[in-house]
Amino acid sequence: MQFDAVVVGGGFAGLTAANHIAMEGYRPIVLEAGIDEKYMCNSRVSTGALHVGFRNPEDPADQLFENIMSETDGTARKDIAQTLAENSQATINWMRDEGCEFMQHPRRASGMPMMVPGREMKAGLDWENSGPNKFLLALADKLEERGGQLRRGARVSGLVHNDGQVCGVYTEAGEKIEAIAVVIADGGFQADPDLVGRHITLSPEKLRQRNTQTGRGDGLKMAVAIGAETIGLDKFYGHVLSRDAMMNEKLWPYPQLDVVCAKSIVVTPDGRRFADEGQGGVYFTNAIAALDDPLSATAVFDHTVWEDAKVADIVPPNPSLEQNGGTVFEAASLAELAGLAGLDPVGLLDTVTEYNDSIRTGGVCGLSPTRNTEKFPAHLIENAPYYAIPLCAGITVTSGGLAVDGSAQVLSKSGEVISGLYAAGSVVGGLEGGPRVGYVGGLIKAFGIGRIAGRAIAAKLANKCIKMP
Ligand SMILES: Cc1cc2nc3c(=O)[nH]c(=O)nc-3n(C[C@H](O)[C@H](O)[C@H](O)COP(=O)(O)OP(=O)(O)OC[C@H]3O[C@@H](n4cnc5c(N)ncnc54)[C@H](O)[C@@H]3O)c2cc1C
Repeated sequence: MQFDAVVVGGGFAGLTAANHIAMEGYRPIVLEAGIDEKYMCNSRVSTGALHVGFRNPEDPADQLFENIMSETDGTARKDIAQTLAENSQATINWMRDEGCEFMQHPRRASGMPMMVPGREMKAGLDWENSGPNKFLLALADKLEERGGQLRRGARVSGLVHNDGQVCGVYTEAGEKIEAIAVVIADGGFQADPDLVGRHITLSPEKLRQRNTQTGRGDGLKMAVAIGAETIGLDKFYGHVLSRDAMMNEKLWPYPQLDVVCAKSIVVTPDGRRFADEGQGGVYFTNAIAALDDPLSATAVFDHTVWEDAKVADIVPPNPSLEQNGGTVFEAASLAELAGLAGLDPVGLLDTVTEYNDSIRTGGVCGLSPTRNTEKFPAHLIENAPYYAIPLCAGITVTSGGLAVDGSAQVLSKSGEVISGLYAAGSVVGGLEGGPRVGYVGGLIKAFGIGRIAGRAIAAKLANKCIKMP
């Protein structure tokens, strides 16, 4: 079977790339492992907030580029960061042209567009009536109208690679499908315990899969098998969740406990802090995953912070956490709280005393581990009752992945383009991560790089060069 392009994965990245190829009159096929009409993928269940490192994607391109570089402490690849930033406005314009509507995100700083209809800001998964599900269905229909194909139930297992040129794929069923270009858009490797265990945590089974478990690293593995370079596989985008979310489906993807943690101390059973709570939720989720036992972290805070949690974060954890079966220990003293939460009382008391003293004397940055106060000021733990919440790390999507150039072409270990091979969406590395685990945005990576890849392939097919955007 021959097509102009084969796209591996029918999430937003794959469908955006395929539609851009079909819009230019070429014939792409999207091979999607999921079987159902509404097959699961992260795109379908996403909240639908479009941003570039939490900035409005319609901000000027130079500001978006600087934001990516500063969020990642300069570790992002400049070429793809630059093209993504330059294409951000055009990407949003294209989404609007395709019928996607936006509203203002109800719980984020002004200027963050969210796909309409917006999800209800409540605990648990909620996707059927959401903007992302509707837009994904619309993009699949548009692809067919434009002469492309979406084939479900087709899991790709390998690349056809001849004389240094990728020219098709093999499916798990043994079929060979040839094409001039291949786009890997399979959504990352967060649901592959082997890769997660090798790169992210000693105990992959102790992370909560805060996703649809469809990103199994197939694309990464098949590209690496032909010599592709990878970047930053050790970091992921995710959020801190109640430990009960490991068993309780109502406690993921929301409520997150990011803001509670950033206003608390988070300790291991010895009552000691282990990471900088002030760096925020994505950083802290990675820190929990990196513990020898990722199910051993507990947030400790006082009544003031718990009252604040009635309005803090996307789905306020107070009272939604307890209403949905999550554990919140409450006690009149820290010693009693330590007993309830299984924490060492002496260690906890020492930690809280040192923490409070350092806040009072202005020396909180001198703590070990240090406590950054730029985004989240440190709060005294002094106003009883005291609370403790057992935590876990919720992994949403991996940050690292395949190295690509500014046209989304996959690079080899020697830095050369692998001819015919492109990547888009969560499988792309080099845009996120760094020491503070910068997050650029899963949806802009999907729509933005999907568009870049699709346009670059259409230009290749037309045997001409185009200037982005
Ligand atoms: C609960 C939740 C909320 C989120 N909210 C936001 C948000 O508000 N804003 C934001 O920016 N990001 C958000 N994200 C992240 C964002 O949804 C993803 O990063 C993005 O949708 C990824 O798109 P993708 O196309 O790369 O991958 P996916 O949407 O995961 O699609 C990949 C597809 O590839 C298929 N596939 C996998 N392997 C194969 C194979 N071997 N052969 C064929 N097909 C294969 C899968 O079945 C899947 O359908 C959220 C994620 C989750 C889970």
